[in-house]
Amino acid sequence: MEGYEYLSPTVVQAETERLDAAGRVFCANCIHCKLVPAPADAEGSYRLRVRCDAGKWRKKLGDEKIYKYFTVARRSIESCDSYEDMGEADEFMKDLRKLLPTTDELYTP
Ligand code: SF4
Repeated sequence: MEGYEYLSPTVVQAETERLDAAGRVFCANCIHCKLVPAPADAEGSYRLRVRCDAGKWRKKLGDEKIYKYFTVARRSIESCDSYEDMGEADEFMKDLRKLLPTTDELYTP
């Protein structure tokens, strides 16, 4: 088809991530983004959550907001005055996306 270029899903995803990253801060690459266990129903089991220990993640009424670990790569903001990067963001996020679970997994001791 003339004028039509097929792009594989992998290429489209990479380009989307590149555009998303433009000028944005990824919380996962910030020293204040902390991984914390959240107790689950079964004794001793837990799920993983992330929180901002600089207190920047808030619900509308002011309570702290925490997120499921497997969604952490989606947490990005235009800017943050408390952002302290832990390294080169593109490389870090690329590696993180490979390691992240795809669901809210249950961990048992
Ligand atoms: S300090 Fe800012 S950049 Fe860092 S985790 Fe909190 S909200 Fe994200």
